[in-house]
Amino acid sequence: MKFSDIGEFGFIDSIKGQFDIPMEGVIKGIGDDCAVLSTTLDRVLLFTTDMLVQDIHFMIERISYYQLGRKAIAVNLSDIAAMGGRPLAALISIAIPVETEVEAIHELCRGMRDICRQYNLAIGGGDTVASPDKLVINVAVAGEAKKSEVLYRSGACPGDMIYLTGPVGDSAAGLKILKNEITPPEVMRDYFIKAHNDPAPLVEIGEIIAASGLASAMIDLSDGLLSDLGHICEESKAGALLLAEKIPISPELTLLGDSTGLNPLELALSGGEDYQLLFTVPMEPEQGIDKLFKDHDLPAPHHIGEIGQGSGIRMKRADGSFAELQPMGFDHFNRSQR
Ligand code: ADP
Ligand code: MG
Repeated sequence: MKFSDIGEFGFIDSIKGQFDIPMEGVIKGIGDDCAVLSTTLDRVLLFTTDMLVQDIHFMIERISYYQLGRKAIAVNLSDIAAMGGRPLAALISIAIPVETEVEAIHELCRGMRDICRQYNLAIGGGDTVASPDKLVINVAVAGEAKKSEVLYRSGACPGDMIYLTGPVGDSAAGLKILKNEITPPEVMRDYFIKAHNDPAPLVEIGEIIAASGLASAMIDLSDGLLSDLGHICEESKAGALLLAEKIPISPELTLLGDSTGLNPLELALSGGEDYQLLFTVPMEPEQGIDKLFKDHDLPAPHHIGEIGQGSGIRMKRADGSFAELQPMGFDHFNRSQR
């Protein structure tokens, strides 16, 4: 069997059982945004890693080394945010083609340092090796949280409302622009490219959501709305209903759709790397989530649907009809889903 036959998630499923070595202190192993390890009676260590590979995750001529450094850290911080944690320290490993200019990697490190300062993340060390021809960056980040506040992918229940912190699809539009697949109106170019090349991890918002005790599950959107909501459904053994009209799309993406013929909803559903947080909230009368965001001067979150019984994701379209959706998104070994 080839990797292209089972895909990234098929592979992860295939090793999950084998890697599930019961061990005291491991609250969550494979299957969430971070591993969760018990440290003291009421606190946990969160542990996550993400790798960026040249020509898979980035095209070196389409992103500055500075931004690449920031992004390599940001995608890991986003996983800490998804559990409601606070970042502690990072380990940075880089595989560098020998002909690379040292100044370029110094720029990469400057980007890493700046975002680490911004998010109070210590740099604990790392590893540097030679690579035959592609630049590979692997970052691991440790964080911490109160044991009782951690939000898992598995906590959603039928009836829970599904919320999104902000618009989706901008990063995928940025990628299409970088690949010259579409030409945006010039004034919008930087907006979309920044969304793709320099995403902001929502660490503070994640902590606020977790500390409020109002949410039941959370995930960050790295692979795409459908794919990542699919992970919540799978881990929570539930289904979901999305309301197409409620999915937040930026005014910029709507305009881009008008000028290029691109379907903003399609990008919002299947495009990845928006790094918004998707979370679920049990029904309750006082609209506590809206108040929570207001009290913290945050833009109101978007109520985009509901968790239901069964499995799979359905979407109610603007005209009232329903569509059964496949959990589409980025899969490393299935390029057709890109
Ligand atoms: P995320 O998109 O949040 O970074 P992934 O989809 O990459 O999460 O991974 C899903 C789960 O599978 C995570 O718990 C991750 O730690 C685990 N995982 C992925 N690859 C491996 C691997 N090679 N060995 C062990 N666990 C893995
Ligand atoms: Mg994640």
